[in-house]
Amino acid sequence: MGAPLNDLARLDAELVDCRACPRLVEWRERVALEKRAAYRNETYWGRPVPGFGPPDAAMLIVGLAPAAHGGNRTGRMFTGDRSGDFLYAALHAVGLASQPTATHIGDGLELFGTRVTAPVHCAPPDNKPTPVERQTCRRWLDAELKILQPRLRSVIVLGGFGWQALLPVLEDAGWVVPRPRPKFGHGAHVELTGRTGPLHLFGCYHVSQQNTFTGRLTPAMLESVLSDAARAAGLMG
Ligand code: SF4
Repeated sequence: MGAPLNDLARLDAELVDCRACPRLVEWRERVALEKRAAYRNETYWGRPVPGFGPPDAAMLIVGLAPAAHGGNRTGRMFTGDRSGDFLYAALHAVGLASQPTATHIGDGLELFGTRVTAPVHCAPPDNKPTPVERQTCRRWLDAELKILQPRLRSVIVLGGFGWQALLPVLEDAGWVVPRPRPKFGHGAHVELTGRTGPLHLFGCYHVSQQNTFTGRLTPAMLESVLSDAARAAGLMG
Protein backbone atom coordinates (compact mmCIF):
# COMPACT_ATOMS: atom_id res chain seq x y z
CA MET A 1 0.00 0.00 0.00
CA GLY A 2 1.45 3.40 -0.95
CA ALA A 3 1.32 6.49 1.24
CA PRO A 4 -2.30 7.70 1.30
CA LEU A 5 -1.29 11.27 0.54
CA ASN A 6 0.43 10.25 -2.68
CA ASP A 7 -2.33 7.87 -3.64
CA LEU A 8 -5.05 10.40 -3.04
CA ALA A 9 -3.19 13.24 -4.72
CA ARG A 10 -2.70 11.02 -7.76
CA LEU A 11 -6.34 10.01 -7.77
CA ASP A 12 -7.51 13.62 -7.55
CA ALA A 13 -5.14 14.64 -10.35
CA GLU A 14 -6.60 11.96 -12.61
CA LEU A 15 -10.17 12.73 -11.59
CA VAL A 16 -10.08 16.38 -12.66
CA ASP A 17 -9.41 15.29 -16.25
CA CYS A 18 -12.35 12.86 -16.42
CA ARG A 19 -14.78 13.33 -19.32
CA ALA A 20 -16.67 10.05 -19.06
CA CYS A 21 -20.21 11.49 -18.86
CA PRO A 22 -21.06 13.48 -22.00
CA ARG A 23 -24.14 15.19 -20.54
CA LEU A 24 -22.30 16.33 -17.42
CA VAL A 25 -19.21 17.46 -19.29
CA GLU A 26 -21.39 19.58 -21.57
CA TRP A 27 -23.34 21.03 -18.61
CA ARG A 28 -20.41 21.78 -16.31
CA GLU A 29 -18.54 23.54 -19.12
CA ARG A 30 -21.57 25.48 -20.34
CA VAL A 31 -22.34 26.73 -16.83
CA ALA A 32 -18.69 27.73 -16.47
CA LEU A 33 -18.92 29.87 -19.58
CA GLU A 34 -22.38 31.34 -19.08
CA LYS A 35 -21.87 31.98 -15.32
CA ARG A 36 -24.27 33.48 -12.83
CA ALA A 37 -24.40 37.29 -13.00
CA ALA A 38 -23.00 37.66 -9.46
CA TYR A 39 -19.87 35.73 -10.48
CA ARG A 40 -19.40 37.06 -14.02
CA ASN A 41 -15.87 38.28 -13.28
CA GLU A 42 -14.74 34.94 -11.90
CA THR A 43 -13.13 32.05 -13.75
CA TYR A 44 -15.21 28.97 -13.06
CA TRP A 45 -13.52 25.64 -12.40
CA GLY A 46 -15.88 23.79 -14.77
CA ARG A 47 -14.31 20.34 -14.19
CA PRO A 48 -14.79 17.35 -11.88
CA VAL A 49 -14.49 18.39 -8.23
CA PRO A 50 -12.27 16.13 -6.09
CA GLY A 51 -12.91 15.19 -2.47
CA PHE A 52 -11.65 17.61 0.17
CA GLY A 53 -9.91 16.80 3.44
CA PRO A 54 -6.88 14.91 4.75
CA PRO A 55 -5.83 11.58 3.22
CA ASP A 56 -5.76 9.89 6.63
CA ALA A 57 -9.34 10.92 7.50
CA ALA A 58 -11.19 8.69 9.98
CA MET A 59 -14.55 10.15 9.00
CA LEU A 60 -16.03 10.66 5.54
CA ILE A 61 -19.01 12.79 4.53
CA VAL A 62 -20.67 11.74 1.29
CA GLY A 63 -22.95 14.23 -0.47
CA LEU A 64 -24.61 14.12 -3.87
CA ALA A 65 -22.71 16.13 -6.52
CA PRO A 66 -21.13 19.58 -6.82
CA ALA A 67 -23.43 22.57 -7.28
CA ALA A 68 -23.30 24.41 -10.60
CA HIS A 69 -22.27 27.75 -9.06
CA GLY A 70 -20.68 26.29 -5.91
CA GLY A 71 -18.14 23.50 -6.33
CA ASN A 72 -18.28 23.79 -10.11
CA ARG A 73 -17.24 27.43 -9.75
CA THR A 74 -14.68 27.18 -6.95
CA GLY A 75 -13.24 23.70 -7.57
CA ARG A 76 -13.75 22.52 -3.97
CA MET A 77 -16.56 20.42 -2.49
CA PHE A 78 -19.42 22.44 -0.96
CA THR A 79 -17.46 25.66 -1.40
CA GLY A 80 -19.12 28.90 -2.42
CA ASP A 81 -22.78 28.01 -1.92
CA ARG A 82 -25.42 27.98 0.81
CA SER A 83 -25.25 24.22 1.33
CA GLY A 84 -21.54 24.50 2.04
CA ASP A 85 -22.11 27.47 4.37
CA PHE A 86 -24.45 25.26 6.38
CA LEU A 87 -22.17 22.21 6.37
CA TYR A 88 -18.90 23.93 7.22
CA ALA A 89 -20.48 26.08 9.93
CA ALA A 90 -21.66 22.87 11.62
CA LEU A 91 -18.28 21.16 11.14
CA HIS A 92 -16.61 24.17 12.73
CA ALA A 93 -19.13 24.22 15.59
CA VAL A 94 -18.20 20.65 16.56
CA GLY A 95 -14.46 21.22 16.13
CA LEU A 96 -13.88 19.42 12.82
CA ALA A 97 -13.13 22.48 10.66
CA SER A 98 -10.70 25.35 11.18
CA GLN A 99 -13.25 28.02 10.26
CA PRO A 100 -17.01 28.25 9.68
CA THR A 101 -16.85 29.58 6.12
CA ALA A 102 -15.81 28.13 2.76
CA THR A 103 -15.54 30.67 -0.03
CA HIS A 104 -12.67 29.60 -2.31
CA ILE A 105 -9.58 27.42 -2.55
CA GLY A 106 -6.93 29.19 -0.51
CA ASP A 107 -9.40 30.62 2.03
CA GLY A 108 -7.56 28.78 4.82
CA LEU A 109 -10.21 26.17 5.51
CA GLU A 110 -8.83 22.93 6.92
CA LEU A 111 -10.75 19.84 8.00
CA PHE A 112 -9.61 17.74 10.95
CA GLY A 113 -9.76 13.97 10.49
CA THR A 114 -12.65 14.44 8.07
CA ARG A 115 -12.98 14.28 4.32
CA VAL A 116 -15.90 15.38 2.18
CA THR A 117 -16.69 13.73 -1.13
CA ALA A 118 -19.54 12.85 -3.49
CA PRO A 119 -20.66 9.85 -5.55
CA VAL A 120 -20.86 12.11 -8.63
CA HIS A 121 -18.01 14.57 -9.13
CA CYS A 122 -19.46 16.83 -11.83
CA ALA A 123 -22.31 19.30 -11.40
CA PRO A 124 -25.51 17.88 -12.91
CA PRO A 125 -28.47 19.84 -14.33
CA ASP A 126 -31.10 20.41 -11.59
CA ASN A 127 -28.75 18.67 -9.12
CA LYS A 128 -29.98 15.36 -10.55
CA PRO A 129 -27.43 12.90 -11.86
CA THR A 130 -28.87 9.91 -13.71
CA PRO A 131 -28.37 6.35 -12.42
CA VAL A 132 -26.02 5.76 -15.35
CA GLU A 133 -23.92 8.77 -14.38
CA ARG A 134 -23.82 7.58 -10.78
CA GLN A 135 -22.65 4.20 -11.99
CA THR A 136 -20.05 5.72 -14.30
CA CYS A 137 -18.62 7.89 -11.52
CA ARG A 138 -18.54 5.00 -9.08
CA ARG A 139 -14.99 4.05 -10.03
CA TRP A 140 -13.74 7.25 -8.37
CA LEU A 141 -15.61 6.60 -5.13
CA ASP A 142 -14.39 2.98 -5.17
CA ALA A 143 -10.81 4.14 -5.50
CA GLU A 144 -11.15 6.87 -2.86
CA LEU A 145 -12.72 4.44 -0.36
CA LYS A 146 -9.96 1.93 -0.90
CA ILE A 147 -7.31 4.54 -0.11
CA LEU A 148 -9.15 5.79 2.99
CA GLN A 149 -10.23 2.33 4.18
CA PRO A 150 -7.40 1.45 6.62
CA ARG A 151 -8.15 4.48 8.81
CA LEU A 152 -11.82 5.05 8.09
CA ARG A 153 -14.19 4.47 11.04
CA SER A 154 -17.35 6.42 10.21
CA VAL A 155 -19.26 7.74 7.22
CA ILE A 156 -22.10 10.24 7.14
CA VAL A 157 -24.25 10.08 4.04
CA LEU A 158 -26.19 13.23 3.16
CA GLY A 159 -29.41 12.08 1.52
CA GLY A 160 -30.82 8.96 -0.09
CA PHE A 161 -28.96 9.29 -3.40
CA GLY A 162 -25.58 9.09 -1.68
CA TRP A 163 -26.81 6.24 0.52
CA GLN A 164 -27.85 4.18 -2.52
CA ALA A 165 -24.56 4.93 -4.22
CA LEU A 166 -22.37 4.14 -1.24
CA LEU A 167 -23.71 0.81 0.01
CA PRO A 168 -22.45 -1.27 -2.95
CA VAL A 169 -19.13 0.56 -2.83
CA LEU A 170 -18.71 -0.29 0.87
CA GLU A 171 -19.60 -3.87 0.12
CA ASP A 172 -17.02 -4.10 -2.65
CA ALA A 173 -14.41 -2.60 -0.36
CA GLY A 174 -14.98 -5.52 2.04
CA TRP A 175 -17.45 -4.28 4.64
CA VAL A 176 -20.40 -6.54 5.36
CA VAL A 177 -23.67 -4.78 4.53
CA PRO A 178 -26.70 -6.51 6.12
CA ARG A 179 -29.53 -7.91 3.97
CA PRO A 180 -32.04 -6.49 3.41
CA ARG A 181 -29.92 -3.41 2.91
CA PRO A 182 -30.42 -0.77 5.60
CA LYS A 183 -32.75 2.04 4.58
CA PHE A 184 -31.75 5.67 4.45
CA GLY A 185 -33.24 7.97 7.06
CA HIS A 186 -32.11 10.94 9.10
CA GLY A 187 -30.46 9.53 12.21
CA ALA A 188 -30.05 6.03 10.72
CA HIS A 189 -26.98 4.35 12.22
CA VAL A 190 -25.61 0.99 11.15
CA GLU A 191 -22.38 -0.62 12.26
CA LEU A 192 -20.69 -2.62 9.51
CA THR A 193 -17.95 -5.12 10.11
CA GLY A 194 -14.91 -5.29 7.87
CA ARG A 195 -11.37 -6.56 7.72
CA THR A 196 -9.93 -3.18 8.77
CA GLY A 197 -12.37 -2.84 11.69
CA PRO A 198 -15.95 -1.68 12.14
CA LEU A 199 -17.39 1.18 10.13
CA HIS A 200 -20.21 3.30 11.53
CA LEU A 201 -22.58 4.45 8.84
CA PHE A 202 -24.88 7.40 9.59
CA GLY A 203 -27.73 8.87 7.54
CA CYS A 204 -28.43 12.61 7.56
CA TYR A 205 -30.74 14.78 5.50
CA HIS A 206 -28.88 16.57 2.73
CA VAL A 207 -27.72 20.13 3.42
CA SER A 208 -29.63 21.41 0.37
CA GLN A 209 -31.48 24.70 0.70
CA GLN A 210 -34.69 22.75 0.23
CA ASN A 211 -34.00 21.09 3.59
CA THR A 212 -32.22 23.86 5.47
CA PHE A 213 -34.54 26.73 4.47
CA THR A 214 -37.61 24.75 5.49
CA GLY A 215 -36.15 23.64 8.83
CA ARG A 216 -36.27 19.97 7.86
CA LEU A 217 -32.57 19.96 8.69
CA THR A 218 -31.47 22.39 11.43
CA PRO A 219 -27.91 23.18 12.51
CA ALA A 220 -28.55 21.30 15.78
CA MET A 221 -29.67 18.17 13.89
CA LEU A 222 -26.59 18.23 11.68
CA GLU A 223 -24.23 18.93 14.57
CA SER A 224 -25.73 16.02 16.47
CA VAL A 225 -25.03 13.55 13.63
CA LEU A 226 -21.54 15.02 13.10
CA SER A 227 -20.76 14.61 16.80
CA ASP A 228 -22.02 11.02 16.91
CA ALA A 229 -20.00 10.11 13.81
CA ALA A 230 -16.90 11.92 15.10
CA ARG A 231 -17.12 10.03 18.39
CA ALA A 232 -17.52 6.74 16.52
CA ALA A 233 -14.40 7.64 14.51
CA GLY A 234 -12.40 8.45 17.63
CA LEU A 235 -12.16 12.13 16.71
CA MET A 236 -14.02 13.29 19.82
CA GLY A 237 -14.16 12.18 23.43
S1 SF4 B 1 -19.41 12.59 -13.13
FE1 SF4 B 1 -17.61 11.37 -12.58
S2 SF4 B 1 -17.38 9.86 -14.21
FE2 SF4 B 1 -18.76 11.47 -14.98
S3 SF4 B 1 -17.38 12.92 -16.04
FE3 SF4 B 1 -17.61 13.64 -13.95
S4 SF4 B 1 -15.89 12.74 -12.83
FE4 SF4 B 1 -16.11 11.61 -14.76
